[in-house]
Formats: sequence, structure tokens, C-alpha cells
Amino acid sequence: MKATHVFLLSVTYLLITSSVFAQYPGWQQKANYKMDIKVDTELHQYDGKMDVMYENNSPDDLNKVFMYAFFNAFQPGSMMDVRSRNISDPDSRVGSRISELPKEEWGWIKDVILTMDGMPCKVTIEETILVVALPLPIASGSEVNFQMSWKAQVPRQIRRSGWMNKEGIELSMTQWYPKFCEYDHEGWHSHPYIGREFHGVWGNYDVTIHLPKRYSVAATGISKKTPEQSKSTGIWHFRASNVIDFAWVADPDFTYETVSVSKDTKMNLVYVPNDEYESAWLELPRFAVQAMRFLNDFVGEYPYPQYTIAQGGDGGMEYPMMTLVTGDRSLPSLVGVTVHEMAHSWFQAVVATNEALYEWMDEGFTSWIESECMEVISPREMTQETVGGAHSYSYYGYIKQALSGNEEALSTHADHYTTNRAYGVAAYAKGEVLVEQLGAIIGEQVRNEGMKKYFTTWSFKHPGPTDFKRVMERASGIELDWYFDYFVNTTHTIDYAIKSINTRKDTSTIVLEKVGTMPMPQDLRLTFKDGTSLTYHIPLVIMRGHRKMNQGEEIALDWPWTNPLYTLEVPTQGKRILNISLDPLLLQADVNRENNKVVFKSVGKQNFERD
Ligand SMILES: [Zn+2]
Repeated sequence: MKATHVFLLSVTYLLITSSVFAQYPGWQQKANYKMDIKVDTELHQYDGKMDVMYENNSPDDLNKVFMYAFFNAFQPGSMMDVRSRNISDPDSRVGSRISELPKEEWGWIKDVILTMDGMPCKVTIEETILVVALPLPIASGSEVNFQMSWKAQVPRQIRRSGWMNKEGIELSMTQWYPKFCEYDHEGWHSHPYIGREFHGVWGNYDVTIHLPKRYSVAATGISKKTPEQSKSTGIWHFRASNVIDFAWVADPDFTYETVSVSKDTKMNLVYVPNDEYESAWLELPRFAVQAMRFLNDFVGEYPYPQYTIAQGGDGGMEYPMMTLVTGDRSLPSLVGVTVHEMAHSWFQAVVATNEALYEWMDEGFTSWIESECMEVISPREMTQETVGGAHSYSYYGYIKQALSGNEEALSTHADHYTTNRAYGVAAYAKGEVLVEQLGAIIGEQVRNEGMKKYFTTWSFKHPGPTDFKRVMERASGIELDWYFDYFVNTTHTIDYAIKSINTRKDTSTIVLEKVGTMPMPQDLRLTFKDGTSLTYHIPLVIMRGHRKMNQGEEIALDWPWTNPLYTLEVPTQGKRILNISLDPLLLQADVNRENNKVVFKSVGKQNFERD
């Protein structure tokens, strides 16, 4: 009876905790947009109208709302312009180009007229943010209707959006309409646009675009009409459900190809063919479909009915249900950029962390699954084992930056790094290393399963770092607060060393040293002349547990992080040691691997002492 009673109690407990967990934070704002856009392609201007149902699902009454007006960044003297002219390593695409734009090539959004439930709102344009004073607060749990009209000028393409990119694509329409800033459990996020990383409100989009009849369009969302039908009327209509943004691209010379990924998802490729690069675009679908199938399997099912790879923009940039990539590329380059942008669909579009604040949870996680994917669809030839394996470029980039002294902590807001390089290395490389290196603590299999769990648990919920940490803790049973604190919030680095070896008849005494300032569990492997080996896993006390041991591995006593030295007695039983190595699986971003290995000559003493 008692056992049954305990069993029932624990089932109830699990049900309660899992439902609380699944609902946290329990609410999301929602903005459902209906837009009608009339484009003047000669002046690069458009007139916009929108009708938005805004649901305030938060526990707070809102007396103002914020909206982005990204195009206003493309004017001389804007924050984006000034930042680009003052940072020591400006993005070459921006440089001083904004300051040199003639007035007819500026971007702007103006003449904004906005009502809420028919009552006028006071809109103050603070450069890239519209600050909207509401006639009445939006009560918690209520829905209101916003009606807006505005005029916009599309900037000459400098960064991401704009007309006439360097490959001649006429309109790359991204970050192009007044868009609600997100209000989430962390409050308002009305950060001005100075060039990178986004955060958005989920909602449904119903967008009608009027263009001269010669244009072809690709967009977020699906159209009931074929491109030919839409082109013949000059009216393009798209619908998208549960997305955080809407992007489109237009050019008179687009060609379309559609392939099937699964029974639920098709893929469009939209580009302007030219002699030099058409063959790469013709081969791209084979790789892109394989990549999407891999990611469906590796992370979780892509939830939208369509994905579009379109030529446009200024490199590669992710949007919900689509990416814009520059197209004049070799096949490897085209596949590489496509796989990266497509991989964003899982983290940027669906899980959708606030990537301005937690850029590593988007760019880093995306880079991690991109590397896993590329390893499968286009394996690299590796002549020797490299640190980080498929992720070695990121390990190399991160370690180089850490040793340069110019590293900035991952917890820095994406816009606020001192240099573009520090941002890039942190968000992409260190973010990727963070995930791969987790394998050294909780095991690679558990980490992979944890990532799937993270995707299914946190899709459409804007999780933060703690939510990811908790998924990995639940998956592994190991405390991980120290890992995320060190690796995200500080620039402490890992360096462990073999300090000394003293071999007697039957045993060897090995002393390890924590040289660096970040603690990590360690793996130590001894390889013997007779072909056998011994591997010890040394957890940290603060982990309160350890990963599952692989065959042939032994668990050693925990290492308190406070202790610079750790002594291990190994029963070598008179066998001759060939070498001893720390982190033999090459999973840790140890900034000095010179002191990780000791190799003995085939004769002579088996003793070693590092100065
Ligand atoms: Zn990216």
C-alpha cells in the first residue's frame, strides 16, 4: 500500500511540475497584421496601411507601445551611421556609406497616422523607434485594434534591406514596415536599430503587395496564386501563421524552382540565373533538402509548410520561412550560407530567444547545428584529430580571441560589444563551443537529446539562458549553473595541465593542475605500450553528479574547484606508459594544450615534473 501511495504521489508531482514548466512564462503577446502596400518602384517609396489585432496577454496594463521603424537608420547622423563611423572595425558593408547617401537614397518611415480602437494615438518618431502614447491603457488580457497608415522610402541597399543590392536584385524588403516591439516577461524591448539582432512578437500576417506587373516576388508566407498569376495582375498576396516577422524580395528577372522536403514542407529557390553561377543554384536543392531533413531529425520538426531560399540582401540573413542570400557564389559557399541561414529557422524563428540580449542562443546554437549538418551533407577530410572536431573553426576562433585579451563576455548585448570582431567571435564561435563543450560535462548523447527537448519544450516561448540550462540539467541530472556563469558571464578561460608523474613498481602518482581560471571536469587517459589504456573521468564537486561513463572509463574522486592541484593514484601494474593526456576527446576549449600531454620515450624513467 505504502509503495503504491508513494508512486501515485510522485506521478502527481511530475504532472504538476511538468505542466508548470511547460507553461512558463505562461503568456505571449500576439500581433496579427493585415497589410496593404503600394510600391512606387521609380521613387523607391511605398504607401502602407495596416490593421493589427494586438492581444495583451501579459499580466500588465500597457499605457504605451513601441514599434520599430528600421528604415530611419539609413540617414546620415543616425545611431547606426555614427556607430559605424566610430567603431574600430566597421562592417565593410556599412563603413561611412550611410553618411554619404544622397537624400533620395535615404530610408525613412514618416507620416504615421495611428488609431487604437478608432481613437488617435500620439506617435513620436525617435529615429528607429516609434513611441506610441495610447489614448487608453490596453488592459491585461484584452485585445485592441490598431489602424495605421504611413509612407516609406526604401534606402539604397547598405545593410540587409534596400533597393539594388550589389548583385542587382531590385528590392530586398526586410525590416521594412512598422513592427511592434516585443513586450515579454522581461518587459519592453525597444532597442534602437544600429545594425544587428532582432526580437519580435508572434502573430499571423496577411500581406498584399502592389507592384508594377513586370516584378516577381518571394516572401515569408504562402500564396494561393502561382507566381505567374500574381505577376500578371501585379498583386501579390501572402499569408503566414505564427511568425515573428515578414520579409519579401522582388525583381523582374527571378526564376522559381520548387522541391519537396517532406509531405508537410516544400522548398522554393528564387534567383536570377546568370552564366557563371547558375550551375551552383541548380545543384543547391539537393544539398538544401538533405540539410533540412537532417535538421528535422537532429533538432525537431520544422513547423511551417514552406521554406524559401531567395537571392537578395548582402550576404545571408534569416527570416521566418525564408532567407535572403547573395547568389554569385561557388557551390560550397552557396551551400554553406544556405545551411547556416536555414538552421536559424529552429532557433531564431521558432524558439526565438531575444537575440539582441542572448545572441549566443541564436547564432551560437545555429552555428552548432550548422556544423553538425555540414559534417553529414558535405564531410570535410580531416587528416588529423582536431580540437572540437566538426566545430574546430569555432574552437580556433574563440581560443585565438580569448588569448588576444580582447574577448568580451557572451552576456554583452549584441549592439554593445566594443568591436564587431568581439561580437562575432562571442555570438558565433563561443556560442557554438558552449554547446559542443557541454558534451565534456554531461556527455554528447545526453547533450543532443537535451537540445531536442529544448526545441520541443521552448518552441514559440522566447526562452532565456536559464531555461536552456534547466533543460540540460534535467536531461543530465548535473548542476550546470557554474558552467553557464563562467562561460556566458565572464571571460575566464580553461587551462588544465599535467603537473607531474611519479611511477613506482605497481602504481603511478599523477598530479594535475588547474592553471586557468575556469573550472571544468577532466578526462585523463593513459596509453600503455601493450596497447591497453586507462581513462579516468574527474567530475567537479559543484556538478553534484557526473556524466555516464563510456566503456573502459573509470570515475575518479571529485575535484573541488578551489584546489589548484589534484592527485590521482593509478594502478599501472608495472606496464610501460607511452603517453598521458588530458581531455583526450578534444572537447574542451583549453587555451593551452601544450601542457595537456606527456609522452615517454620507449626506454628510461617514467617520471615527469613540469616547472
Ligand atoms: Zn546567423
